[in-house]
Amino acid sequence: MFYKPVQLIATGDLTKRYNICYRNPLRVPVQLVIEKDSITIRAYIAPHRSMLVPYRAKDGSTDGTGDRKLRKILESMPDPGTPYTFMDAALDGIRECWGKEYTLKGVDHPVRVNVEFIRKDDPEAVYGKRQKFFGIKQSGMSSTSFVASSPWRWGWGFLRTGCPEAAMINWSLRSPGKIHMNYYSSLNNYMHTVSHEFGHILGIGDAYDAHYRCYYEAPGTRDFMMNSNSSVHSQELEMVLRAHMTGKMQFFPFKISLKRFFKRVFKK
Ligand SMILES: [Zn+2]
Repeated sequence: MFYKPVQLIATGDLTKRYNICYRNPLRVPVQLVIEKDSITIRAYIAPHRSMLVPYRAKDGSTDGTGDRKLRKILESMPDPGTPYTFMDAALDGIRECWGKEYTLKGVDHPVRVNVEFIRKDDPEAVYGKRQKFFGIKQSGMSSTSFVASSPWRWGWGFLRTGCPEAAMINWSLRSPGKIHMNYYSSLNNYMHTVSHEFGHILGIGDAYDAHYRCYYEAPGTRDFMMNSNSSVHSQELEMVLRAHMTGKMQFFPFKISLKRFFKRVFKK
């Protein structure tokens, strides 16, 4: 469960290296499609109506006057006046952060990752009648964003994995969780945060010094997506691939230290 790099066969053919097949793809909301030299993340996503309203900048504006990035996006849209929603921001953010080229050890060419969304609210979307989707919503439930499983899966994840991180995200291929997004003062922050949460949906844990990690930061991950919401590193992609090969969430190394824990608790 704690991720340790393993030796995979060195080959340019990704289908020989990553053996990923889903017994019943209709039950799996997020799938990795492995091709010879590229990978597609195919995500079936069902937005809550709170995601379908125009993205609001810090000052409440939706026309781009309050956020430089939003203004640039609105200016580049072919149809001026089309609203740019929270959902648009989330999907663009995830595509930008996860969809790129990666260098994987043992693969002799750069690996292109594409992100493809199938939206439940899109009348033109094509999917199986019994396809399972994962949810995303704007919520004011907490001062942060997070991914949570349905309440009936809570607690049992902790017992199953022995990892405190798994108490609220009891991840499985069939139940990857639901994204709850907070509001952010900048569109760029919003896009990076949703990309971090999407990492959990893909099956990987946090790397930063969260309280449920006993304030232990995974070494060498300072600029990782799962640490500082910065950018997705190859190791994070490898962990996602492992999660989908094994059906088990992959966690960054974690050390329990009561000394570190109490030092932080009493500092506050
Ligand atoms: Zn997280």
